[in-house]
Amino acid sequence: MMHWLCVLVQTPAHASLGSVLSYQYPTLLAPGTLVRVPLGKRETLGVVWDADAAGATGEVDPGKVKQIASVLEGIAPLSAHWQQLLGFAAQYYQRSVGEVTLAALPPQLREMSAVQVQRRLKRTAPTPPPDGETALANAPTLTAEQAQALDQIQAHAGPCLLFGATGSGKTEVYLQCVQTLLERGPHAQALVMVPEINLTPQLEQRFRERFAPRYGAASVVSLHSGMTNPQRLKNWLAAHHGTARIVLGTRMAVFASMPGLQLIVVDEEHDPSYKSGEGARYSARDLAVYRGRLENAKVVLGSATPSLESWHHSRPVEEGGRYLRLHMPGRVGQTDKLPLVRRVDMNHQPRNAVFSIPLLEAIRERIARGEQCMVFLNRRGYATVLHCGDCGWKSECPHCSAFRVFHKIDRTLRCHHCGFTERVPRACPACGNPDIAPLGRGTERLEEHLAELLSDVRRPNSITTECPNGEPVRIARIDADTTRLKGTLESQLAAVHSGDVDVLVGTQMIAKGHDFRRITLVAAVNPDGALFSSDFRAPERLFGLLLQAAGRAGRDASLGDNAEMWVQTFQPAHPLYAALKGHDYPTFAQQQLQERAQASLPPFSAQALVRAEAKTQEIAHGFLEAARNAAASEMAHWDGWADIVAQVTVYPPIPMGIQRIANIERAQMLVESASRNALQQFLSGWQSVLHTARQSPAGKGVIRWAVDVDPLAI
Ligand code: ADP
Ligand code: ZN
Ligand code: ZN
Repeated sequence: MMHWLCVLVQTPAHASLGSVLSYQYPTLLAPGTLVRVPLGKRETLGVVWDADAAGATGEVDPGKVKQIASVLEGIAPLSAHWQQLLGFAAQYYQRSVGEVTLAALPPQLREMSAVQVQRRLKRTAPTPPPDGETALANAPTLTAEQAQALDQIQAHAGPCLLFGATGSGKTEVYLQCVQTLLERGPHAQALVMVPEINLTPQLEQRFRERFAPRYGAASVVSLHSGMTNPQRLKNWLAAHHGTARIVLGTRMAVFASMPGLQLIVVDEEHDPSYKSGEGARYSARDLAVYRGRLENAKVVLGSATPSLESWHHSRPVEEGGRYLRLHMPGRVGQTDKLPLVRRVDMNHQPRNAVFSIPLLEAIRERIARGEQCMVFLNRRGYATVLHCGDCGWKSECPHCSAFRVFHKIDRTLRCHHCGFTERVPRACPACGNPDIAPLGRGTERLEEHLAELLSDVRRPNSITTECPNGEPVRIARIDADTTRLKGTLESQLAAVHSGDVDVLVGTQMIAKGHDFRRITLVAAVNPDGALFSSDFRAPERLFGLLLQAAGRAGRDASLGDNAEMWVQTFQPAHPLYAALKGHDYPTFAQQQLQERAQASLPPFSAQALVRAEAKTQEIAHGFLEAARNAAASEMAHWDGWADIVAQVTVYPPIPMGIQRIANIERAQMLVESASRNALQQFLSGWQSVLHTARQSPAGKGVIRWAVDVDPLAI
């Protein structure tokens, strides 16, 4: 007898073919079983989702149904919880469950036959853990603040928001949470997430040092997109089969199959990289919270500058809060010395000065003392644009509505959006004027300028003697341009750590996470832009970034006394900088949340964006407008839908901030509701409307469209 089974396969996002297909097999396979199935002319990886009632009752034409080709023996079926997590993610983020599920599995699994999988599994037979009696490597005694936070985390169901200053010892709290967990049971597993691949090696080392001696080297694995496919498969299998007790990873790790999952840590939970920018645009932080509830695993979100969403969720229970807020204001090993924040009023500095006189003086002093400085500018390249003073020509990208950036090092004009690169013209392409000049400033130009300003400074011979006749100052730059090659970031960071660098110039890449011991001065040279951005989240991001950057200063307790954060600004009285001066995230958050409440912005409302790409703005607009009109004219008349449609506002389509990239026009439309539930229901119904609009004349010429639920950039 043949059994009918529903199998998930990967189909394109908006394909007419559903992603759940019917197959037959001689035995009944458990839901979650991995299989190979024929699809068209190929064979592909599939996941048995459940028994197929429709097929069994004869609704599917038996003549057309194919058989499952093979079962990936040796890989235990994915759990019901895992299926539920993926089902939820697909539904919430408006994608097909097949797409989301198959994307959550290691890529290599998709290419392997059942036989190859067998062979692989034999090769990676689990190594038994070493003697469980070995002591854990030197765990420090917790500070009073840490101990209290840990107690509270243990005592409460969670989710917990660990609001701790940079250097307050959050990671140590995570480590000890994990430790208690591992001691509790031989199958317990923990998932620890960090926003960036760059941060995983540091973290992995700390976890490995702590836990490998007792639980074995195989007990800690990483999962991120920077690893090779075989590595990723190996680690995924270790998590799935429970040999890995601790999984460290970036946002994709939220989908790791972990049968013993009991704890999820989301470090730097405010970081935008937890939100995926393609495919299903999921938030790994939000899914972690959902997953914690689903699997009864404790969730700990940690940050020195929490997202305003999480901050709001952690308000007192009496006011409706759902997370437990835990505060660790002090830095470990120091008497509460946070870096002094200095604002330099650029209105009183020489016009066009890039470095104010007092900042430059302060940098010189640090160098003389053998300390390091970090200068931070959120724009890479040399100049933002090349400009002709005679005719007004600017280095626009011919394919995008953006300027190409001047990179002096290879004398190119590079578009940061489509990648279009050309050599710098000798003269103005419009009028022939040979005198074309860079306008604006990126990190490359900043580095050059700083080298000129400091050309007379000599570094001390050693960090203990203040000898002025040593070598010239060493300035290094770290940004996306200097770290393109594999391994370059590591070597550049090593140079900073070893003291070979006096001043480090860079983008936000250097502001996050790195533990630079000898940096005592951090400067943001031109951060004002975000104060006037049209993106309502820009101030939140700026505050987070500046406070993170400040946290880079004075990590070494012996140097912490004179750690300083400098901000050059034309708006010295701005409340954001005032709050920064006091390292006062709560006041900043309160101001921002008040503004958001008044404007009904998230977290006081729920949003989604529909984006469309086409050859012309008219086409993209036409498609979005058709879907918008249909909501009012059709959906509102569906049986029982009037109330849901009434709770949702669909705003008219507008061109996106950068409206053309690589000759493709982009438009978007905002959908908003005071009720997340209403928005979710609306979107689920609207999907079919969007599909219909895409098939109608209004959708002709639309290249792509996608829904982004809880978008981060509006
Ligand atoms: P955070 O994650 O909050 O930035 P970390 O956990 O990295 O802070 O701690 C900052 C530094 O303090 C690290 O070098 C860490 O090893 C050290 N540290 C943390 N907790 C303690 C403790 N209880 N005793 C001694 N050193 C500690
Ligand atoms: Zn010109
Ligand atoms: Zn371009």
